[in-house]
Amino acid sequence: MQNSGIVYFSAEFGLDESLPIYSGGLGILAGDHIKAAADLNIPLTGVGIFYGKGYFQQRIDEGGSQQHLYPEVDLEASVYPVQLLRDDHGQPVIIAIPLNGRQVYAKTWSVQVGSVTLYLLNTDVEWNSDSDRRLTDTLYPGDQDIRISQEILLGIGGTRLLAALGIQPEVWHMNEGHCAFLTLERIRMLSAEGVPFETALEVVKASTVFTTHTPVPAGHDVFSIDRMDRYFGDYYWQLGADRERVLSLGLMDGAFNMTRLAVSTSSKVNGVSKLHGEVTRELFHKWMPHIPQKDIPVDSVTNGIHTGTWLAAGLKELFDRHLPSDWTLQVAEPEVWSAVRDIPHNELWEEHQRAKAKMLEAFDLPLPSSDAGPLIIGFARRFATYKRALLIFSEPERLARILGDPHRPVCLVFAGKAHPSDGPGQELIRRIVELSRDERFRGRVYMVENYAMDKAKMLVQGVDVWLNTPLKPMEASGTSGQKAALNGVLNCSVLDGWWEEGYNGRNGWAIESAIEGDYELQAKQDTEALYRLLEEEIIPMYYNRGDRTVPTEWVNLMKESICSLAPVYNTHRMVNDYWNKMYVPASSRGNRFSADNFEVASRVAAYKQFIRSNWYGVHVKKADILPEDSTRIEMNKTTFRAEIQLGAIWHKDVRVEAVGSDGRRGIWKVILEPVQQQAKGLYVYEGASSNIPTNNIWEADVNVRVTPISPDFANDFEMELAAWG
Ligand SMILES: *Cc1c(COP(=O)(O)O)cnc(C)c1O
Repeated sequence: MQNSGIVYFSAEFGLDESLPIYSGGLGILAGDHIKAAADLNIPLTGVGIFYGKGYFQQRIDEGGSQQHLYPEVDLEASVYPVQLLRDDHGQPVIIAIPLNGRQVYAKTWSVQVGSVTLYLLNTDVEWNSDSDRRLTDTLYPGDQDIRISQEILLGIGGTRLLAALGIQPEVWHMNEGHCAFLTLERIRMLSAEGVPFETALEVVKASTVFTTHTPVPAGHDVFSIDRMDRYFGDYYWQLGADRERVLSLGLMDGAFNMTRLAVSTSSKVNGVSKLHGEVTRELFHKWMPHIPQKDIPVDSVTNGIHTGTWLAAGLKELFDRHLPSDWTLQVAEPEVWSAVRDIPHNELWEEHQRAKAKMLEAFDLPLPSSDAGPLIIGFARRFATYKRALLIFSEPERLARILGDPHRPVCLVFAGKAHPSDGPGQELIRRIVELSRDERFRGRVYMVENYAMDKAKMLVQGVDVWLNTPLKPMEASGTSGQKAALNGVLNCSVLDGWWEEGYNGRNGWAIESAIEGDYELQAKQDTEALYRLLEEEIIPMYYNRGDRTVPTEWVNLMKESICSLAPVYNTHRMVNDYWNKMYVPASSRGNRFSADNFEVASRVAAYKQFIRSNWYGVHVKKADILPEDSTRIEMNKTTFRAEIQLGAIWHKDVRVEAVGSDGRRGIWKVILEPVQQQAKGLYVYEGASSNIPTNNIWEADVNVRVTPISPDFANDFEMELAAWG
């Protein structure tokens, strides 16, 4: 790539606990993404927000209530160089953004992460009103006006900042929908140069990629049309289109949906695990009901973690001694990790014991002592309700028996923050604190305060088992279990997110949750499966030592877990996947669309407008399976025939297919070719196939689908149009 490579926008970045501008997994992922890009020398620039007060520090009071503290962020303490961005004259670079009829100014902090620069916008500028100076104080405000303001600052302000710095990215990566207003600002800039709206949209779309992280509709950012009008009333026209057309890019159920905007303005969309890719297709299918779920153009790139950030120092030294000398540069190569199998059992076990001791000391936990124990199970992440922190307490008496065996003690360590406006999440914390004081669980259940990256490192390195019990399929990926696996901590998890593809039957434990739609039933089944694993497999294996000090079977599992998971679930593999699947295609597409004064973009724009305004004339008039005595039928083949009314549209600008269900989760398709023109705009299409995977083809309905196509489209359903019959 030339120019300025890739720009990566995210509302949060978790680089280090000293820079508290992240709330959870999304931010950590963004931080790990840019660290890996720096390691791999990928030309990437980050754009985010500098939250002046950061995400809150958590205190939990006597009654288990979460208190929110906002100490000043101490930039001196950052392990990364953080500087106020200044121009050539030493003056702070100030960006102006339009906000609800006024101008708001922002300054920028730059953070250097190796070769990658991260720019963070902040509105605490003297020229602003007092309330505007506070706009970027906190992360994910509950107030919708502050929220849309932050998103305008991130998307529009971030784009203006890049322009001011002369950075011309080839690929724009939107990490979650919060930053998607950047696409409108790019269209506005092109429009100011005289590029028509539809052409500008194609240029922007060609070079933009979007990663969605949210599997449930309620998780997507939505603004009312009224609020959009207030903030964008004076902006729509600057894009060279009318209000309705601009709003149509994000319109969903009568409101403006940021995920919808991001999908409308990207040429590549991905979910963050294979399962999440499927769940996202299911979700988007509701938006595009005429396109079968399987055909919805959503790819997946499974999340990973930055090995250098999350690996325990002691374990790194052990790996340095046993793995190839350049292993840190080759963490995505499975062969590199196979050397872990040859590490003497006692060395790996002792290193794990050191990490465990370090964690216990750091958290000052008064644990029951026994020769070999206790076995420590960790559960730490945001206290969002779908993560079901209380699932393991579903049958308190049974759990008390499991934890309380004096010969085989087991402890649970919890940690996590609930968002300040998440009441039910805070209630979970209160309940766990209460349970930790319950006579039945005394000395067995602990809650560690103020979960952040430093605490996360201690926990994923120092516990024995990492527990994860989300309500399937709500965990898009999850990454903390990947951090645990890298450190030889064994995962016990619902088969959701990354674990559905990471679990191989030998590298940890799986709770094979069925997606029920009946949450209570699902919880009941998952609880039973979890208790059985603890009672019958996990605890017996941990304490099975004979007269040795090292639990051999357990250490074998640790090795299998490291060897099978560490090479795959890291951000080097992940960023390489983004490079190959998303960045390279978007870069060449973007360049092609803007070359020669936007020639391809304007052709595609004109073509789409023509198709859209003539699509009303497209109909499937007749669809048949030809009878067996037909002369056309070939041996063992099913022949389809359809009459298609195309009106003004050329027969080579559509794809005609027979489409059916295979009776399971898949679909089959047979392409039909034009064989005859019956009248002006009326064609006969035919096609045959010998692999229709259903026995009852004669009884099944034949569905014929017509879709507009173009060699310039990024995918088969770029226009989201299809006519069925
Ligand atoms: C890794 C990490 C997360 C993400 O946890 P999940 O298991 O993916 O929910 C959240 N918070 C912190 C501090 C982390 O380090």
